[in-house]
Parts: sequence; C-alpha cells; structure tokens
Amino acid sequence: MTEMPVRTEPAEHATYRAEARAWLSQNASLKTGVDDWSTQKTHVDPQALVDYFERCKAWQRTTFEGGYAGITWDTAHGGQGGEAWQTRIYNEEAAAFDVTNGFLAATTAMLGTALRFHGTDDQKARFLPPMLSAEQTWCQLFSEPGAGSDLAGLGCRADRDGDIFRVNGQKVWNSMAQAADWGFLLVRSNPDVPKHKGITFILVDMASPGIEVRPLVQPTGQSHFNEVFFDDVEIPVENVVGEINGGWAIAKTVLMAESQFIGTSGGRDTSQVLIELAQAHGLGDDAIMRQELMRCYIDERILRMLSQVLNNAVRSGKPPPIDGALLKLKMAYNRVQFGNTAMAILGPAGVVDLGADSVFAQEELLGRFSVSIGGGTNEVGKNNIGHRMGLPREPGTPIDMPWKDIPR
Ligand SMILES: Cc1cc2nc3c(=O)[nH]c(=O)nc-3n(C[C@H](O)[C@H](O)[C@H](O)COP(=O)(O)OP(=O)(O)OC[C@H]3O[C@@H](n4cnc5c(N)ncnc54)[C@H](O)[C@@H]3O)c2cc1C
Repeated sequence: MTEMPVRTEPAEHATYRAEARAWLSQNASLKTGVDDWSTQKTHVDPQALVDYFERCKAWQRTTFEGGYAGITWDTAHGGQGGEAWQTRIYNEEAAAFDVTNGFLAATTAMLGTALRFHGTDDQKARFLPPMLSAEQTWCQLFSEPGAGSDLAGLGCRADRDGDIFRVNGQKVWNSMAQAADWGFLLVRSNPDVPKHKGITFILVDMASPGIEVRPLVQPTGQSHFNEVFFDDVEIPVENVVGEINGGWAIAKTVLMAESQFIGTSGGRDTSQVLIELAQAHGLGDDAIMRQELMRCYIDERILRMLSQVLNNAVRSGKPPPIDGALLKLKMAYNRVQFGNTAMAILGPAGVVDLGADSVFAQEELLGRFSVSIGGGTNEVGKNNIGHRMGLPREPGTPIDMPWKDIPR
C-alpha cells in the first residue's frame, strides 16, 4: 500500500501550530467522542439550549482573551491583524478539542463582514470588539411570514420620527433571538419606491420596549428559532448601517457571507462517524453500505478542499475564487446523503429509538433542512447562480414597480 505523504509546512506555520495547540491544551479538553458538549446539537429542554449558548459565549470570550478570536481582523476592531493561514491552522488544531462558539460563529461571519465593509468608524469601534468578546451577541432579523425567498419584498415598517425610527411588524425564523442581546434588522422605510430601494439595515437592542420574542418548536423538539414582534419599537437613527433606504446593499453582503459561512462550516468528520456507526451495527463489510460510506467520505473531502480554497482567499482579502452559494448547495446535498446513510444503517430504530446513535441519525435526517432552507433555499440559490451565469431572470413583478403596488 502507498504511504500517505507526510505534510511539511513552513517553520513559521509549525511554530504557530505548536503555540495554538499548547494554548488549547491549557484552556480546553480533548474531544472524547462521548458526551462532548461541543458536538451536541439537539437541546430539547429550553434551559439546556440557553446553557449551551452560555457555554459557547464563554468559549468565545476565552479565545478573545487568548488572542485567537478575529485572527485576521484589524487590531483596532479587537482582532489580531493576522494572516489567513493562522485561522486555518488554529481551526485545524481546535477541531480536536471539546470547544465551540456555536451560533456566534454564524452571526460574527454575517454581521462582522457587513460592519467591516459598510459600518462607520464609530459603529466598527462600538460593535466589533464586543462581538468578538461575546459581550454582545446577535441575531439576524430578516425573514418575515411573507418575505423569505423574496426577502426584498419585506414589510416590517419603519417610520422616521426625529432621531428615531418607530418599527412595527413581524419577523420569523430568527435563530437564537430568544438569547441574543442585539439584532440586525431589515425594515421597509420607504414603501413608495421599488422594493429593493426602500429598505434600511438597522441595529436593534433586543431589550428595547415593544419587542416580543416567541420561540418556535422544530421537528427535533428544540426551539432554535423564533418569531419576533415589533410594536412601536424606537430605534435611534444612528444605528442605521449604510444609507437610509440603501439597506439592500448591506443585506446582500450579509447573505453572501452567510452562504459562504454555511458552505464552509463542515468542521465535523460526519463520514467518519458514519463509518464507525456502520461498523458498530455490523455493516462495515456490507458491499452496498461501503459504497455509500465512501460516497459520503469523498463528498465531504471535496467540500472541505473547496472551502479551504475559498476561505484562504477571503481571509487574505482576495475576491472569492468560487461562488459561496455553490458550496452551500454542495453542503445541502451532502447533508441529504449523510442523513439517508445514517438511517440506512439504523433502519426503523433510527426513527423511533432515543439512544445516542438514533439521535445522531435523526439530527442528520431532519437537520438537512437547516442547510437546504436556511440562508436561502436550494431552489432560490440555483436561480441566483443561473442568473449570475447569464441565464435570464425568472418571471416576476417588474423590478421598478413601487413596493406598495406589488400584489400580495
Ligand atoms: C435553520 C434555519 C435558520 C434560519 N435562521 C434565520 C435567521 O436567523 N434569521 C432570519 O431572518 N431567517 C432565518 N431563516 C429563514 C430562511 O432564510 C428562510 O426560511 C428562507 O429564506 C426561505 O424562506 P421561507 O421559509 O419563507 O420559504 P418560502 O420563500 O416561502 O419558500 C417556500 C418554498 O418555495 C420555493 N420557492 C420560493 N420562491 C421560489 C422561486 N422563485 N423559485 C423556485 N422556488 C421557489 C422555496 O425554495 C421553498 O421550497 C432560517 C431558516 C432555517 C431553516
């Protein structure tokens, strides 16, 4: 059998790796594969979900204090002013430890990117450091009952009243809004212009009077997301990011960062878990199962390599060499394959049993929708990619029709 080549890396990289590993060893425990808190995804008890979120915050704070949060961000914004390869190496080392910053990674990727591109100096100084240290946590307040795929059709209303906006309306599917301190919100600030041109991107303190958060229960039993209602909520105009009525540009930056984040966030070796599961259930030498397992392994490796190429470029400040939306689609297809394989291994027990193996399989089966719907559905992703490839836009209302005249 051919030996795997031994990876050599520059001395500077090896030193950084050794330092990161030593720091992680001092501040965290290695994963054991049994009861690791960082890989437990399903928290049916609402208190368990909040406890998990607090643990993610505590770990984010530890990394911030240790100099491993925002590795490529400017030091003026709480980051380390480091290089893309440092983030890659840190993540590779951290993967062996029982640690995660969970959902904070998603909001940091989304809002952090948006503020760094579009925020004023004051906004960057005010919001970026506490985001990295987890003193302020965030939720995304974009989707509405009538505006998910057609996000630009949103109707949550904001009326200017001197130095404030008064906000009235509803958002939905807002991940972790029940625990977040702040939200980044899209509002309809001008209904008389075409839909993309009357939207404002504004930051809201979730403790503001008039905000009500109601958790929604998912098929897994947990309440990851919420409905959020706004009843005459006052938000200072200084919290607007970008131009008033120019929020669609900021929203696009968030959506691009979100796609990229989801598509490149497959940190866990699911194929390895599936291989161990198949062996434990006596299917390790089943010819058909072995093919399925290798399909999972290859698909996971392809996605990981593409992610690395994309992340390295973006963290070095270069334009993305691969459309992030493509990676998100690939991740969605992989999750379907993983869920089907897990269920094929366990059979009916995978659906009805509550043991650890079955809970894992159920999460893989049902969790597929978080990738194929969250951050924009597969279908809409394909529409957008097709449009960027030069295919005609799909039929709809004229792009210049005022929002208030659109039939709904
Ligand atoms: C795990 C998860 C986390 C989420 N977190 C957040 C969050 O934190 N904040 C937030 O604001 N939102 C969040 N969302 C909401 C998410 O962005 C929306 O669910 C998504 O954009 C789809 O919108 P919708 O649910 O309204 O579906 P709809 O837009 O109603 O779509 C319904 C179906 O119709 C299809 N469809 C719609 N339009 C087209 C079209 N033009 N062409 C072809 N097919 C079409 C869709 O693909 C889908 O299958 C989250 C969703 C998930 C699953």
